[in-house]
Amino acid sequence: MWDYDNAATSNDFKFTSKGGQDAWDRNSYFNFWIVNLDDNLSGGGSLLGFAQFPGGIASTDGVAVDYAQVGGFGRTATHEVGHWLGLYHIWGDDGTACTGSDQIDDTPNQAGNTNNACRTHPHNDGCSAAVMFMNYMDYSSDACMNMFSKGQCDRMEAILNTSRKGLKTSIGCLPALLPAVDANLIDLVEPEWNNRQ
Ligand SMILES: [Zn+2]
Repeated sequence: MWDYDNAATSNDFKFTSKGGQDAWDRNSYFNFWIVNLDDNLSGGGSLLGFAQFPGGIASTDGVAVDYAQVGGFGRTATHEVGHWLGLYHIWGDDGTACTGSDQIDDTPNQAGNTNNACRTHPHNDGCSAAVMFMNYMDYSSDACMNMFSKGQCDRMEAILNTSRKGLKTSIGCLPALLPAVDANLIDLVEPEWNNRQ
């Protein structure tokens, strides 16, 4: 189990020498670690995954998600990839104030996060008449999330065209090289097909 609270070792699972797996070249690949996270944060709350924002060091670049959050709706991964592509939390990370911003123009200002809950639209949280609780960058229940805003998509595309532009010409995008001379099964002589039940 990997402990996020210990800053000195919180990224150890990204290094083969420390019992994890080294990142692949981030100019060609998106690194996604599925790990057994100690999800009880020392300051309270739980951790389902975490991401490295654009601009960080290569050896720890990518997204990590607790194995229990993979499958199902899988919105933890969607949320973390949003961070990895430069998005901030929709409530502006100001606790429950109405002052912080996610730096995106078309998402309504929101007081706090929608802590593992589902809302009914329109939900007035005292900060905005209708908050965007269905946004992937909130903390709503997985089943209640279904969108990024246009402004968020523009931000992510901008990152893909600048600091993460290597992915667009990744060697992973090239078709596999097929040699002209290749071993290939043409016929099955024994046992005969006709004798198969
Ligand atoms: Zn987050």
